[in-house]
Amino acid sequence: HDEEAAARAAATEADSGAPTIFDKIISKEIPSSIVYEDDKVLAFRDINPQAPVHVLVIPKLRDGLTELGKLHFVSRMIPILMAEPRHEDILGHLLHASKIVAEKEGIVDGFRVVINSGASACQSVYHLHLHVLGGRQLKWPPG
Ligand code: 5GP
Repeated sequence: HDEEAAARAAATEADSGAPTIFDKIISKEIPSSIVYEDDKVLAFRDINPQAPVHVLVIPKLRDGLTELGKLHFVSRMIPILMAEPRHEDILGHLLHASKIVAEKEGIVDGFRVVINSGASACQSVYHLHLHVLGGRQLKWPPG
């Protein structure tokens, strides 16, 4: 409806939306257990792990990095739905980083990469993130 369309348009206009806890993790204001980091992404251990290995991989959103900023969004906007063709590089970078995480964590025999998208999928932090889960037998289908 109109309200949602307006919110989406506003989020697309702005280079950054509402801050989330992950901004403070990126800026290191809030400490995290970092598994991998480069100029584009940060991978850190989930505070409430659902498997022996549970790492989150997120794009870093910094001033001036407009392309990354476009993946930032106002509260309750589903980040992956904000993606446009020009975001292919960062989306690919995130997926490649999840491979590096799996190798570093020694779970290459079996692991899962998940993007919870929206309330119905139990998304709780509205900053794009990939979950990398492994280190135990995972069930399918997920709950
Ligand atoms: P979502 O449910 O949005 O897909 O996943 C968000 C994840 O972020 C949850 O698994 C949650 O445990 C994790 N999380 C939330 N706040 C923090 C935090 O302050 N530090 C860390 N390391 N993880 C967090």
